[in-house]
Amino acid sequence: MHALTISEHGGLDRVEFRTDLPAPDVVHDDDVRIRVRAAALNHLDLFVVNGLPGVKIVPPWILGADVAGVVDAVGTNVSGLSVGDYVVVNPGLSDRTCEYCRAGEQPLCPRFRILGEHAPGTMADYVVVPAVNVRAIPPTIPPEQAAAFTLTTLTAWRMVVTRARVQPSDNVLIWGIGGGVALAALQICKQIGARVWAVSSSDEKLRRAGEMGADELLNRNTADVAAAIRERTAKRGVDVVIDNVGADTWNQSLRALGRRGRLVTCGATSGPMVETDVRRLFWNQWTICGSTMGNDAEFDAVVNELRAGRLLPVVDSVFPLAEGRAAFERLQSGRQFGKVVVRVS
Ligand SMILES: [Zn+2]
Repeated sequence: MHALTISEHGGLDRVEFRTDLPAPDVVHDDDVRIRVRAAALNHLDLFVVNGLPGVKIVPPWILGADVAGVVDAVGTNVSGLSVGDYVVVNPGLSDRTCEYCRAGEQPLCPRFRILGEHAPGTMADYVVVPAVNVRAIPPTIPPEQAAAFTLTTLTAWRMVVTRARVQPSDNVLIWGIGGGVALAALQICKQIGARVWAVSSSDEKLRRAGEMGADELLNRNTADVAAAIRERTAKRGVDVVIDNVGADTWNQSLRALGRRGRLVTCGATSGPMVETDVRRLFWNQWTICGSTMGNDAEFDAVVNELRAGRLLPVVDSVFPLAEGRAAFERLQSGRQFGKVVVRVS
């Protein structure tokens, strides 16, 4: 089997295309095997290559969380999925038995795992996953788009719809437009009818965000984002901030946030330690929300959007699996607008 792997942590020179791996078998009755057609990259994959505290890999470790492909074998307990079905996969694996799972909140599972981080990944000819994570989609959706869709759209959906409860009347600030989660959040916010303030350090990315419906465009290299928002909203500020940058943006996010505002974070790509003035937190009655991945109901909701063609991801570039390291370099460069994808078969 072909696969994109690492055998030790480090820089992207550790990313290795292998042609000699055994294809995984369906061992558990509740699993299915998928013939992978495309897999998409996420920032998480860069963290996996670099090494994450507490996460141990077994070499050769197959990278990747996102996948679109065709069911190729099913366990004896699987119903509702058949060989030949064209599918996407929720990359979040949970034990299905703890109190959070039983309450339908799988991403809170103490044994939550993510494909490519804690379980063998998707950048290979085949991947075996629990059938409960798999959803059939129409064959008309190109595999590169389907693979690019799942992790970021699911993450953005939980942030925007469930955690921030964005309303049509809301102003929403989205940092780092061009990243997968930020673009999915933009699309979801515009679907709701909210007013979106998009931030990037690239005028070109802002121009493209404007084409996708972003209402206000702010270049953080040339504008004081919070001051500009205060000025353009008559000091009111925004209702919601979608922030996955962390240390570099936290202070600005809070300065931009109006009374009763909600700040939702799903990551800290620039660093995890931030400072918050508690007096401003209680006086303005802010809500600071963490969010990660999404539950089964949210996954069903986003897959329905995909099936209906209402939410389609932006694909930046597609690389053959054998050139997967170049795909990782593209993601690390930060120059991409949308998802970086590898085509497998
Ligand atoms: Zn659980």
